[in-house]
Amino acid sequence: MQHDTREWPAELEALCRARGRAYLYDCPMSGTKRFPMRLLAMLLMGLGCSSPKPVEGVWRPGPGEDANHIPGPIQNFGPFDSYADALKAACPLILSKPNATVGYLQDLNPELAARTATEYCAWLYYTPEHKYELSMLTDLSRPDDVLANRKTCVLPTFVDDTRYAQGELKYIFALHNHPFGSKFSPMDLHFIENKASIHDWEVETRNGKVKLAIIAFFSKSKNPESPTCDGFYQYVPSTREFMTWTQTGGHWDRTDYGIIRWIDDKTYKIEGR
Ligand SMILES: [Zn+2]
Repeated sequence: MQHDTREWPAELEALCRARGRAYLYDCPMSGTKRFPMRLLAMLLMGLGCSSPKPVEGVWRPGPGEDANHIPGPIQNFGPFDSYADALKAACPLILSKPNATVGYLQDLNPELAARTATEYCAWLYYTPEHKYELSMLTDLSRPDDVLANRKTCVLPTFVDDTRYAQGELKYIFALHNHPFGSKFSPMDLHFIENKASIHDWEVETRNGKVKLAIIAFFSKSKNPESPTCDGFYQYVPSTREFMTWTQTGGHWDRTDYGIIRWIDDKTYKIEGR
């Protein structure tokens, strides 16, 4: 199918910027007259806006809601006394969401895999009661990523947990899934480096100091009905360390890849230690 998309991304971006970050629901609608309907429908499908059923635990900002604050905690999860236990529980929770892992589809139908793959993201945060909690999940993508068929998840900067004042919450890990099991994109690394300018790089907890990091869960499962949590990638902006944790039979192994060095804004390399 051929579409004239020359004016789309810029126009969409402008609309979205004008409406703040809560654009994923209402932004394209106001410009309907100016957008080709078929493309608009595809875009909305890609954004999940046409999804008839909300997914349990997944939040998207409604009209008037601040898209840069995600509610927490998610229901029926935690709280946890250790971040390790919280991570072990968050991994299967996130990977079990619809289309969170599509590696099994890649050989069979790569086009379908690319179209349906969905990233979910959430904050793992630390409360004044010394508990680790998970925010709700979101599956918001940037419109230009949808148009480019890139899979991303835009995690709001803050968590709103009505039990506590904003300054009382400590941000530990930005969690998400990689539907294809790929390593970090430059955008992932930029994301957490930017958050490190807003949140503390290191949080003092009852279990010692914990460094702010981005984490991407992956599954190698060929069965979409029961995706296994096979591990996660982790990047720590304060030390620029990049590592992988893999799980086999309940046992977790850490592999250190090295230190991230930026070559330019869009390219990084990993230097051995
Ligand atoms: Zn990612």
